[in-house]
Amino acid sequence: MAKLTLKLKKKEEVADDTMAFYWQVPDDFTFKAGQFGDFTLLDPPETDEEGNTRAFSFVYSPAENQLVTTTRIRNTAFKRVLRDLKEGTEVSFDGPHGGFTLHKTETTPAVFVIGGIGITPVRSMIVQALKENTSHQMTLLYSNKTPKDAPFLDEFEQLAKEHDNFTFVPVMTRASKDEWKGEHGHIDEDMLKRYVKDVSAPIYYLSGPADMVQAMHEMLVKAGANEDNIRMEEFSGY
Ligand SMILES: Cc1cc2nc3c(=O)[nH]c(=O)nc-3n(C[C@H](O)[C@H](O)[C@H](O)COP(=O)(O)OP(=O)(O)OC[C@H]3O[C@@H](n4cnc5c(N)ncnc54)[C@H](O)[C@@H]3O)c2cc1C
Repeated sequence: MAKLTLKLKKKEEVADDTMAFYWQVPDDFTFKAGQFGDFTLLDPPETDEEGNTRAFSFVYSPAENQLVTTTRIRNTAFKRVLRDLKEGTEVSFDGPHGGFTLHKTETTPAVFVIGGIGITPVRSMIVQALKENTSHQMTLLYSNKTPKDAPFLDEFEQLAKEHDNFTFVPVMTRASKDEWKGEHGHIDEDMLKRYVKDVSAPIYYLSGPADMVQAMHEMLVKAGANEDNIRMEEFSGY
């Protein structure tokens, strides 16, 4: 763990109201796929009672050699300042932190049950495992309101075509039948069982806003998942 200064290299929109921030990678910086860091704005033009620090997961994998964070841009002082940061601006960084990382036993399948921005640490884990050619069977159930709200949708579809051990199940909660031909509605027990034959076998990964994580935890336990095999990263603050 280290306290560092990171410089913004570039920023881009990756879905509706969702931006990716690319930071210069400090010398000798290492992290594990799934970890996060605390980012503090330095001398921001505005602030509020929530302060100038937020935790963000690394969305790229260590193998990609890029330090990238992705966030929903909401109308808070922190996010307004972040959205408008100029390239070259420095922020203070504390990290990496966290143990939300992929299990080592490759014969145990991994199932990721994710809503919206919770995808950030999971993209890192999945891409890292695929780049390392591990033999984990990985299934991602990924829920968003509409395709335009879903960061990395095309990328996951492409990865699933290229890798037999990765199954991608995008789910839309508010898309019309014309707009979306895949799964509709909320991820529930019936949907889970269509894609996970033995519900008690995998290690499950849940991340994102606390309400979503708690609801998915409840659903998994009811469906027959082993509670000891559910790993969670709650994005407190959403
Ligand atoms: C380990 C960890 C990893 C995380 N990784 C990520 C990540 O990769 N990407 C990411 O985006 N976030 C991540 N978060 C959450 C992040 O740190 C912020 O808490 C979050 O982005 C909200 O920040 P904010 O400035 O939008 O809201 P805040 O200013 O922090 O919000 C303060 C309060 O107001 C409420 N609120 C504010 N705006 C709205 C709104 N528009 N609608 C409803 N309620 C509102 C919030 O619910 C909250 O209670 C992570 C958190 C943790 C703990």
